[in-house]
Amino acid sequence: MKNISEMKFKSDITIIGAGVVGLAIAAQLAHRDRVVYVLEKNERSGQETSSRHSGVIHSGIYYPYGSLKAKLCGEGNHLLYELCQEHGIGHARLGKLIVAASDEETGQLQELKAKGQRNGAVGLQLISRSELKKLEPNVEGIAALLSPSTGIIDSHALMEHFVARARDGGAEIAYRKKVVGIEKVSNGYKITVEENDKGKFSFTTRILINCAGLYCDKIAGLAGIDIARAGYRLHYCKGEYFSVGGGKSKLVKRLIYPVPEVKDTGLGVHVTLDLEGRMRLGPNTQYVDSIDYSVDSSHKKSFYDSAKRMLPFIEYEDLEPEMAGIRPKLQGPGEDVKDFVIRDERDKGLPGFINLIGIESPGLTSSPAIARYVASIVKDIL
Ligand SMILES: Cc1cc2nc3c(=O)[nH]c(=O)nc-3n(C[C@H](O)[C@H](O)[C@H](O)COP(=O)(O)OP(=O)(O)OC[C@H]3O[C@@H](n4cnc5c(N)ncnc54)[C@H](O)[C@@H]3O)c2cc1C
Repeated sequence: MKNISEMKFKSDITIIGAGVVGLAIAAQLAHRDRVVYVLEKNERSGQETSSRHSGVIHSGIYYPYGSLKAKLCGEGNHLLYELCQEHGIGHARLGKLIVAASDEETGQLQELKAKGQRNGAVGLQLISRSELKKLEPNVEGIAALLSPSTGIIDSHALMEHFVARARDGGAEIAYRKKVVGIEKVSNGYKITVEENDKGKFSFTTRILINCAGLYCDKIAGLAGIDIARAGYRLHYCKGEYFSVGGGKSKLVKRLIYPVPEVKDTGLGVHVTLDLEGRMRLGPNTQYVDSIDYSVDSSHKKSFYDSAKRMLPFIEYEDLEPEMAGIRPKLQGPGEDVKDFVIRDERDKGLPGFINLIGIESPGLTSSPAIARYVASIVKDIL
């Protein structure tokens, strides 16, 4: 890896953040005729939200029709499966069941099916209790919505794939480089970077892409955007997970979700499986003021109660605190769902500064589609 002082004084495209989104964009934009840098403050790629999630390839059921979330999730679902098959990235198209526990929830399943179909989610099917029992004998519910195109992915392998593609195209991924200053200059931006104890260094870039995840609002602020006025201020929303031991992980084959509550900030505590077949419950939703990934073991009872309804075989002793992630949400508690913001800030006097704000779930699923979307914005600028 190059030392920052060896970086060229001018780049064509600089991407802030080597999470799955920044890396997908780097893979998409890397080209031998361009200088492309990715600046990452951590030692390695994907150390923040991109390694603290459920690892689910969503099908796009829940998002408002016409939103970027719906569009990019649907496209991303297809693109991810293609990428996985082509490049041997670990994945499994397990399918998912949203399980209703009451007649009222069964009605909600019909609405979810209609919403998902409108968004392009393929193969959605309402099934009865007896059909549910045939598919998942150990799951309790009176009806369910089956989403066959939902799956799981090895997100680290996906990020490694994006890193390799970006480097093959000539992009430089520079670690331990924290962006601390952004100044508009003629035909681009002067970026100031802090490199641990080695001090600061500046260079210019024609296009700047902000993929800083939990810090994207701060990066927008560094560029001079009034983030309160622009509606870019993030609300951190923590999601904790509990692992399920006791040899229970083989008792379900699919991802099992409850019907989400209206205005729920997440999808409800659900069952996910990883590629090794381990089962876990989560994530819950809890607005927090700071970034702290500890899991509060006093939440075990509420996880147990939520899961027991659908999975009667779970015992209290099976649950152990596992990990937590933090969602970079644009909506605060009780507010309506907000869409991804992905835009060139030309109208704020910052042409060529592309902000990606509020890239919460389904950001992992959407990552290859987000990359194409950003590439179309870049094409219009260059
Ligand atoms: C609990 C939870 C569950 C989720 N489950 C799913 C799921 O099942 N499926 C799905 O599709 N999505 C899911 N998501 C969403 C998904 O994980 C995110 O949308 C995605 O990982 C966001 O990637 P990112 O690259 O935008 O952000 P990040 O991974 O946070 O990357 C941003 C990077 O920017 C770097 N950075 C920040 N500031 C600076 C700076 N000043 N200088 C240099 N670098 C900087 C950070 O160090 C970080 O590496 C989930 C999220 C959470 C929290």
